[in-house]
This record gives sequence, structure tokens and C-alpha cells, in this order.
Amino acid sequence: MKYIPYGHQSIDEEDINAVVQVLKSDWLTQGPNIEFFEKALCAYTSAKFAVAVANATAALHLSCIALGLTSEDYLWTSPITFVASANCGLYCNAKVDFVDIELDTYNIDVDVLEEKLVFAEKNGKLPKIVVVVHFAGHSCKMEAIKKLSMRFGFYIIEDASHAVGGEYNNVKVGASVYSDITIFSFHPVKIITTGEGGAALTNNVELYDKLKKLRTHGITKNVNEFVNVADGPWYYEQVDLGYNYRMTDFQAALGANQLKKTDRFVQKRQEIFAYYVRSFAKYDIKLPTIRDNVVSALHLFPILVDAKRRREIFEELLRLNIGVNVHYIPVYKQPYYQRLGFPKCYCPNADQYYACTISLPIYASLPEEALAFVVRSLSTFYECNVAV
Ligand SMILES: *Cc1c(COP(=O)(O)O)cnc(C)c1O
Repeated sequence: MKYIPYGHQSIDEEDINAVVQVLKSDWLTQGPNIEFFEKALCAYTSAKFAVAVANATAALHLSCIALGLTSEDYLWTSPITFVASANCGLYCNAKVDFVDIELDTYNIDVDVLEEKLVFAEKNGKLPKIVVVVHFAGHSCKMEAIKKLSMRFGFYIIEDASHAVGGEYNNVKVGASVYSDITIFSFHPVKIITTGEGGAALTNNVELYDKLKKLRTHGITKNVNEFVNVADGPWYYEQVDLGYNYRMTDFQAALGANQLKKTDRFVQKRQEIFAYYVRSFAKYDIKLPTIRDNVVSALHLFPILVDAKRRREIFEELLRLNIGVNVHYIPVYKQPYYQRLGFPKCYCPNADQYYACTISLPIYASLPEEALAFVVRSLSTFYECNVAV
């Protein structure tokens, strides 16, 4: 069997043509397709504003700056995430801390969050920002988190890198109903892709203006924002310290075309999800949970197996050319974070999850034979090697 990765893009002729068309046009970097893609993101999610950027990490970084995160502040996030959800705090020289996960969705545990906030309030160490991660595409308990943010006064960034196309309380993730900013990633393994790419969505016009300026060096060409009188028609001002975090116009054209297919992609993932659940229900495997008020975008299919056999199962699947993966090593275990002083076993649930988890392949373009092979391979392992 040909190597089966855990995630893969789904690109068709229409996507290719969309990119080629832009390559033949006058605009290669940020041009009309950026605005078109941003409008399409707003229409799809019902967020008021969207800012397309180079990648989700850049979107997280700019969001932290736009929300005013400094070296005086704390940023909290989940330990079961890609390192970028935490690194964005360090980019701003803020202090980063982790809130343990719940063991059904593997998202940030709202009760643990509340306890930690009560304690932090007493010590005067409340976070300025909490980055909640919709792990595997399943939304966090946003209503409860929003309530806590009003009680304790912190900003909320939704890291929805996994959750493009997902829903919470019948509203698309990205609408930012319960948060200040929502982040999307368009990396090829995610739900839709632009190669590299990301976006920040918000309903707050001030944040939107800041994000847009920060994406291009902190430069404005808007006369109303000028500090000084314009020298002439060429004039622009740098009013903030921003970055070059722009997305190219051909990436945006790809993104807009991919976005049209989001619901179809998620539906394909749902079919794969259902097939896995049916196939593995009889084995001693913990399968992902989906809450009633959530449509998960199903970026990942993490299973939990006996910790003592995880490595053996992982290696056996890898030997069969199945590109299993582990999402994620708790961020505080990374050497860089260890140097910042985090204990090796900082969050018990995250540690327990990490000891058992394996991500199985799931993506819209996963061929049926490949899916059947994954199911057969893991089933065979359980039939032959594990006493049930
Ligand atoms: C992929 C990912 C990111 C970073 O996305 P890039 O677009 O590669 O920068 C951030 N957070 C999470 C949870 C991710 O999975």
C-alpha cells in the first residue's frame, strides 16, 4: 500500500485554474483576490471582518499585539495544541501558562480554567488573553468561557486552526460570537488550504484596523490616520511596529475556491469518522466524543489506546505505511518550555492523553481503499495481539 498520510490537501482542476489565472494577472502579492477571499470568509462565517495573512501563527501573533499583550501580561492556553498557540504569547514577551484539558473532547477544561482564574485573581496574576483551541475541530465550551471572560476580564482568541467549517450552537466557527478574534489556518493538512496561509476574524472594527495595519509593517495610507500633514500623493506613515505577514494574491484565489468546498470536505470527514466509529466500537479503543451543540470539522481522528501498547500499535501502523501521528506532545514538555521552568508533568489530563493517543488518517481526499486498509490493519492488530 502506498504511504497514507494522516492529513492531506484536496486540490482539483478548478483550484489549479484559479491560481494560474492570478499568475497571468498584474497582481501577485496582495491584490483584489485578498479582498475577495476576506469577504468570502465573512460571508461563510458571518464574522464582520476578516484579515488574510501569511499563516495562522502570524494571525495569532498579530492578534496578541492588537489586544495589547505586553511583557507585563499573562497568556493562557491549552497544552494539547500546536506550539504556535503558546508561542504567540512569548513573541510579545508575555508570560505563558497552561490550563489542563477535559478527557472527552481534549479541549481546555472550563472548571479547571475557573479554579485557576479564582486563584490568579487572588495573586493579581489574571491573564490578559486566553487562547482556546478547538482541538481536532471540536469547538470549546464558548458560552461558559465567554461568561468567565466577563467575570475576570480577559480577552478570548479562538485558535480555530482545526475548526474551519465547524459549528457551535448552530453558528459557524469564525463568527466570533463568544470571542474577540478567531484564527484560521490554511496549512495543507487543515480543512482547506492556501499552501501556507491563515486569517484573523473579528466583529470589532478597531481590532480589524489594527490587524490590517500590523500585517503590513504598521503602515497606513489612510489620510484620516496620519499624524502629520501629507507631503504629497506618495505619502504614507508607519504608525505602529508591524510585520510583513501578507498573503499572496494567488494563495487567496486558491483559498476562495477551496472555501466553496468546505462543507463538502467536512461531510467527507464525517463519513470517515462514522466508518471508524462503527469499525472500532468493539475494541478497547477510546473514540472521539462530539457534543450535541457542536458540528466538528474533524481535522483529526485521535484514538486513545492502552498506554503500554501505544508505541507498538503506532510502529505497526507505520510499518504498514500508514502515516499515523501524535497530536500533540504537551507544549510544556518541549525543551524550550522546560527551560522556562515548567514541570515535566504539569497537567495530569494532558499527560494521560498524550500517553495514549494516536491520530489516524482523516481527510476529504482519502481514498476508500486506503480507509479500508487502515481499518483492516488496526482491527487485525486487535484481533491478533490484544486479548479482548
Ligand atoms: C496548524 C496550527 C497552527 C499554526 O498554523 P500555521 O498556519 O501553520 O501557522 C496553530 N495552531 C494550531 C492549533 C494548529 O493546528
